[in-house]
Amino acid sequence: MPDATRTPDVDAAHIEPIHQDGLPGHESQLEPKPDWQPRYPGSGRLKGKVALITGGDSGIGRATAVLFAREGAKVAIAYLCEHDDAKKTERICREEGAETLAIPGDLGDPDHAREVVRQVIDEWGQLDVLVNNAGEQHAARDVTDIAPEQLQRTFQTNIFAMFYLVQAARPHLKKGAAIINTTSITMYQGSPELLDYSATKGAITAFTRSLNDNLIGDGIRVNAVAPGPIWTPLNPMGGAPKEKIAKFGESTPMGRPGQPNEVAPCYLFLACEDSSYMSGQVLHPNGGTVVGG
Ligand code: NAD
Ligand code: MG
Repeated sequence: MPDATRTPDVDAAHIEPIHQDGLPGHESQLEPKPDWQPRYPGSGRLKGKVALITGGDSGIGRATAVLFAREGAKVAIAYLCEHDDAKKTERICREEGAETLAIPGDLGDPDHAREVVRQVIDEWGQLDVLVNNAGEQHAARDVTDIAPEQLQRTFQTNIFAMFYLVQAARPHLKKGAAIINTTSITMYQGSPELLDYSATKGAITAFTRSLNDNLIGDGIRVNAVAPGPIWTPLNPMGGAPKEKIAKFGESTPMGRPGQPNEVAPCYLFLACEDSSYMSGQVLHPNGGTVVGG
């Protein structure tokens, strides 16, 4: 594991890069390529809206960004450091006719999270949809294998960043705004080799429900998506042991992994008026596994 520690009170310039272990993976290097293409024509569902999608360079975030672009949104993506993937996502969103913004940096740093929201507001003057989707995952066979640095940084990226972004976005979120958080099936089923990761996903689901209670009175809806195994850089490029990747998704009732474009429509549904009577809920694109809640 890397020896980098990141704490919110450390000056950003002195924070070691957190991708020393090769993470996050680049979609440009992943084979076979994930399928991010929207599967149907747009219908203006997000016309006039501004969306910020974290982790929007690759995987589920890219498929969501391009789908939102197709549906008429202006799309900002925030990502850690995968400039090649981010450039491609920007290009495919522009090809859909969308204005785009791509902002690299560590969202576990509260100053950076504030800066990302500031840039979106400077550019477009509004923020209507916040998709908190960035995340990192490190497998460990034994609970004693999880170094304090890994524990801290997994929580920092996966859940603290959501707090920082929601805090920065809150003054700009008006009636009709939507927040969508990415949790995981590991929160519902448990995952023996992802103890820290699945714990952050439990926190994300609890945060989603509590934030719903907190914001719904102001007409801001908060929901979450809990994907099952989806073919993105996260697992095959370092987040899971190699032997697991050979059988990735096989244990789902559908017997296969999902593709990002099978997950992105959940985010669209939760972002637009189609889900106007839903808040505090979790959608489960997971290949047929039945989970509670
Ligand atoms: P991905 O690697 O394509 O996306 C994760 C993104 O998070 C990366 O692109 C990276 O730029 C960003 N990121 C990581 N650390 C960051 C940081 N400190 N600051 C800013 N950005 C950071 O993989 P994905 O599978 O599309 O992951 C998206 C979300 O879906 C994650 O929250 C993940 O936990 C969740 N998820 C994935 C699966 C799956 O099987 N792929 C299953 C359940 C949940
Ligand atoms: Mg990426």
